[in-house]
Amino acid sequence: MPQKSIIIIGAGIAGLSAGCYAQMNGYQTRIFELHDLPGGLCTAWVRKGYTFDGCIHYLFGSGEGQPFHQMWRELGAVQGREMINHQEYQQVTDGEHSLVVYPDPDRLEAHMCALSPADAPLIRSFVKGIRQFAQFDMSAMYETPKEFLDGQGWARLGMKMLPFVPALAKWGLMSCKEFGDKFKDPFLRRAVPQMFSWEEAPVMMGMMLLAYMHSGNASFPAGASLEFARAIERRYLDLGGEIYYQGQVEKILTENGRATGVRLYNDEIYHADVVISAADGRGTIFDLLGGEFTNRKIRNLYNGHMPTHQMMQISLGVDRDMSAQPHWVTYLLDEPMLLVGQERREIGVKHYCFDPSLAPAGKSVVEMIVRTNYAYWQRIYGRRLYDTEQRQVTDILLAQLERWYPGINGQIEHKDEATPLSYERYTGNWQGSTVGWLLTRETLPLMIRGIPKTLPGLEGLYLAGQWVEPGGTVTLAAASGKNAVQMICVWDGKQFVVG
Ligand SMILES: Cc1cc2nc3c(=O)[nH]c(=O)nc-3n(C[C@H](O)[C@H](O)[C@H](O)COP(=O)(O)OP(=O)(O)OC[C@H]3O[C@@H](n4cnc5c(N)ncnc54)[C@H](O)[C@@H]3O)c2cc1C
Repeated sequence: MPQKSIIIIGAGIAGLSAGCYAQMNGYQTRIFELHDLPGGLCTAWVRKGYTFDGCIHYLFGSGEGQPFHQMWRELGAVQGREMINHQEYQQVTDGEHSLVVYPDPDRLEAHMCALSPADAPLIRSFVKGIRQFAQFDMSAMYETPKEFLDGQGWARLGMKMLPFVPALAKWGLMSCKEFGDKFKDPFLRRAVPQMFSWEEAPVMMGMMLLAYMHSGNASFPAGASLEFARAIERRYLDLGGEIYYQGQVEKILTENGRATGVRLYNDEIYHADVVISAADGRGTIFDLLGGEFTNRKIRNLYNGHMPTHQMMQISLGVDRDMSAQPHWVTYLLDEPMLLVGQERREIGVKHYCFDPSLAPAGKSVVEMIVRTNYAYWQRIYGRRLYDTEQRQVTDILLAQLERWYPGINGQIEHKDEATPLSYERYTGNWQGSTVGWLLTRETLPLMIRGIPKTLPGLEGLYLAGQWVEPGGTVTLAAASGKNAVQMICVWDGKQFVVG
């Protein structure tokens, strides 16, 4: 029997993962990628000897024998790669006090109780939750595509989750902001909401992150994100897959309710038995397929009410050794700062000296991160104002940086800016979202139930990537690529294999 063929749209982590697993299962695959590099959002760029990372701060599955690690081994991503573990997740400071977010629950408890003895009962209940989540095997939720879970499958999954249900119910529905509001101490009331980067994040997400960091299962992969993606690209090519770079798909071709192939922007047409789209969810459904295969649920999902995540990143190469400083500090501002029409009360500053391969000796990569508004950037895109605004934001942030690190502005050897429009242009992600749907208590149920990976009225088309796994992350993107191939094997009457 001739091999069945699969076309995959997008060489981000989801597309590469789908390609690897499809090759392992005897399919002939081709990936079409609009850019000339693998990785999509999982990327890095080199300028003047500095490597700027655009993605992974923590990799779920980095620890041997721990949840998701086996998947990364199958994808060839972790073999021989040094994993860097942080003793601190980050620090949140108002200049007078600092909350050090230790992944070690004992240290965190002692530190937070010292900051505010009056909040000890709340702090103890929080760290108790972190200890509980250390046992939580998140990968169990992605072993089988949710589409295939029948009553018994859900019951089995439910049994695995059962010990964590009280903690999930308590912490899954509480945002970091709500948690912060419970503190008596005025500094912790300000700092705790920023502990896990965005105030709407369910506290549970941060607790799980700390638990995984503490067990060495959420590390930074040395060499940065593009090297990580390239390792999976190598594995895919070794398995016999083909990638067409600068091959932007314009249309998914359909015939009698079945996906039959793709047409590229250069008018080339390619046919296949199955198409997997691991590209932006909205773009796939409403542009590549013209909105022909939807229902009310899908239209509602993309009607703009769901939370997404946009940010601006200023990347700096500085002739200064920052290794004695904490690697990530969120500064709380006494006076709000007006940035692109929005008031910001916190600014994040990171450096990457923990990985010496990313900067020349004695120098540092520094990144400043602020959340920002997509609509504003979109309104001014294409006008001179866009460049002016980018420069202005950078100038404001650099002036602030100089106050925290005197002399640093004179040591900058390279700087560049990425706005939500940069993310959108570079990867096609809707509104430049960095994670697809932002994980909040509103989207958490979707994470548990799953978002459908097929479309109504269309056979032979599967969706993978961050838009079908709320909260994103490279790990869930890779798991979704694997799930898509598991679904194809069932459709094809084949046993799914790994190897
Ligand atoms: C700043 C930042 C920090 C992050 N931090 C972390 C972290 O610490 N840990 C973590 O796990 N995750 C992190 N993430 C999230 C993670 O990067 C993403 O969730 C994940 O990489 C998404 O992978 P994907 O394959 O689903 O999508 P993408 O990476 O968006 O890949 C989609 C690919 O499809 C291509 N494409 C789109 N349209 C077309 C078309 N028409 N034709 C051909 N190709 C097309 C794109 O070019 C892209 O390569 C971070 C992301 C950002 C931006």
